[in-house]
Amino acid sequence: MKHLFLIICIATVFVACKPSILQQSETKTGIKQKVIKTNAEWKNELSEDAYKVLREKDTELAFTGEYWDLKKIGNYVCAGCNNLLFTSKTKFESGSGWPSYFTYATDTSITTETDTTFGIKRVEVLCAKCDGHLGHVFNDGPQPTGKRYCINSVALKFVPNQNR
Ligand code: FE
Repeated sequence: MKHLFLIICIATVFVACKPSILQQSETKTGIKQKVIKTNAEWKNELSEDAYKVLREKDTELAFTGEYWDLKKIGNYVCAGCNNLLFTSKTKFESGSGWPSYFTYATDTSITTETDTTFGIKRVEVLCAKCDGHLGHVFNDGPQPTGKRYCINSVALKFVPNQNR
């Protein structure tokens, strides 16, 4: 019964995130100062859910995160290291239940890796500064990039922009 529940959960995540044609790693970052911490340090600093996603590559359930439906203007920084990752200007409604962006904020925001977990080839998105797992990127996003960065809310921290 427990296994069945797990399988249903995993299947739900894959269906919702609609893996499509996949891409290879696309960004080379100019990050000079990486944030490197032990698992014990991360565990101490992060919430339990953020630790599971950022450091253990877990996925939050769709439509449960803080930001999937947020429409405020501002920046989304890494919940682990405050690196600027995405902005509200590139956020769009994907219907997936996870915050989705058609591109990242700067050349030092993210890196990507090929992910073959569960035998399915996807492209993982990581914070370029602390290597925290953020989510995955798919090729079914809107123009101008055609990309959909499908990101866990719990890996992000929203910083509202007061000036706009
Ligand atoms: Fe980070």
